[in-house]
Amino acid sequence: MGSPPSASLKQNNLLFLVFITILFFCSMPDTANLCSNQSSVNPSTVIPYKSSTNISSLETLQLDGYFRFDHIDYAAKDFGNRYHFLPLAVLHPKSVSDISSTVKHVFNMGSTSQLTVAARGHSHSLQGQAQAHQGIVINMESLQGPEMQIHTGELPYVDASGGDLWINILHETLKQGLAPKSWTDYLHLTVGGTLSNAGISGQAFKHGPQINNIYQLEVVTGKGEVVTCSEKQNAELFYGVLGGLGQFGIITRARISLEPAPKMVKWIRVLYDEFSKFSNDQERLISSKDSFDYIEGLVIINRTGLLNNWRSSFNPKDPLQASRFVSEGKTLYCLEIAMYFSPDESDIMNQKTESLLSELNYISSTLFLSEVSYVEFLDRVHLSEIKLRSKGLWEIPHPWLNLLIPRTKIIEFAQEVFGNILTGNSNGPILIYPVNKSKWNNRTSLITPEEEIFYQVAFLSSAMPSSTGRDGLFHILAQNQRILDFCSKASIGAKQYLPHYSTQEEWETHFGPQWEVFVRRKSTYDPMAILAPGQRIFRRK
Ligand code: FAD
Repeated sequence: MGSPPSASLKQNNLLFLVFITILFFCSMPDTANLCSNQSSVNPSTVIPYKSSTNISSLETLQLDGYFRFDHIDYAAKDFGNRYHFLPLAVLHPKSVSDISSTVKHVFNMGSTSQLTVAARGHSHSLQGQAQAHQGIVINMESLQGPEMQIHTGELPYVDASGGDLWINILHETLKQGLAPKSWTDYLHLTVGGTLSNAGISGQAFKHGPQINNIYQLEVVTGKGEVVTCSEKQNAELFYGVLGGLGQFGIITRARISLEPAPKMVKWIRVLYDEFSKFSNDQERLISSKDSFDYIEGLVIINRTGLLNNWRSSFNPKDPLQASRFVSEGKTLYCLEIAMYFSPDESDIMNQKTESLLSELNYISSTLFLSEVSYVEFLDRVHLSEIKLRSKGLWEIPHPWLNLLIPRTKIIEFAQEVFGNILTGNSNGPILIYPVNKSKWNNRTSLITPEEEIFYQVAFLSSAMPSSTGRDGLFHILAQNQRILDFCSKASIGAKQYLPHYSTQEEWETHFGPQWEVFVRRKSTYDPMAILAPGQRIFRRK
């Protein structure tokens, strides 16, 4: 997924408004139903009953790492910046045994304690999913397992810690000329965090999401047991954990499949003014045998000087025609594609690219091309992060909405959402691209629409904390709700990705026939419902 947009921020009112926003959301039914043991709080105000007993009991544990009980407000924050649940303690584990002892200890306390445990990756969740109100947050990035191990050979792989960032995996594996096959758009996320969801990007049509590219996991279950699992060994746990929203175990190690790393990337953008032409081309490309290596797309609404902005990183094929193109007042669809290559084969790559482009129906004056290194391409969103951070625009609320939409409904969805609901400018990038279900393993916990081809649609909005206008949180949340309401009224068959619901009924609907399997796996691997309380699916027992 991309990065949030720039805009001006009035810092003066920021803290006050964030506080009011938190209070407002606490009082909404959204935060009430499934979290009787978890409510959003002002981090400094609540001294919970039994906390001192819980603290002294945790202090008895013999650990390689350590617990922190103070200065832990940061663990009540995430990228979404809307939900804030203060934990009782943060564990900085130095070994898998620290995690296992802690979970076992909580499990053995039984229902006399309401303690829960949340693994915290890079905390880039959107609605408190990596938080634990008055529970234990495990800072996964502190986990020091064995060094990353890279195995070359016919089926190369890397063994990495659950707390490793994907960007570090990229740099390490590149030393051996290798790299993972499937990515997210942004690499400063942890292995455990993305594998608990799916990890979807422009390579997913070819390789499936990241959860499809894992050979083996080491997991600490909700009983504190350390279990190695794979397709052949403890398969139920393996598939449960992949896309399992952290419900069945904490991923401490993952064996990730690798491929020879490309050196360079031809990165291309073209525009369409008709959605059906755009989606037809996307679908043709993901279905053809010898296609691009990366296929995504964007919806661009009423953007001034769009192609001028692109010139800083792309070259127009036809500069004169491109300079005459007007984007203002239009809804445009941008196909973003990439072909990997090595510099000594650039001629072959150019021929192949031209041949593929010649079959597409984009607006001819809008062809923009660029050549960048593989690392630059994969780490592209980090550049936006640096810019946004420097303007104070990274740590603001992000009311994102991610949907998976079946192919047969995508035109109806696009007409209503881009034609009626989203008018004026959007408040951040809107990604839209299709993937093939046949490349996705259907034994994982991830829920997708029924059809063979479905679209990932991501509304990556940023909300200006001081705004009560169209770029403010309330407006964006209302717009998200209109999109969801439309999907349900028009029976679009949409599934949320990075799902977030308030009631058990909604979770049951989300999982559909898979709900029973999900519940059964929960009672097997985390019977006291200790793990990942921030997902708000099960109540602590
Ligand atoms: P956290 O937010 O720390 O945790 C997420 C959930 O996983 C929590 O429930 C947590 O308890 C659990 N968890 C964390 N670590 C473990 C572990 N080791 N074992 C078990 N459970 C664990 N997603 C995509 O698929 N594609 C994208 O292109 C993409 N781009 C993004 C771009 C940005 C800028 C951001 C902020 C997010 C993006 N995401 C994308 C979403 C991202 O994949 C998820 O938010 C992911 O959970 C973030 O990883 P994290 O390490 O921050 O996890």
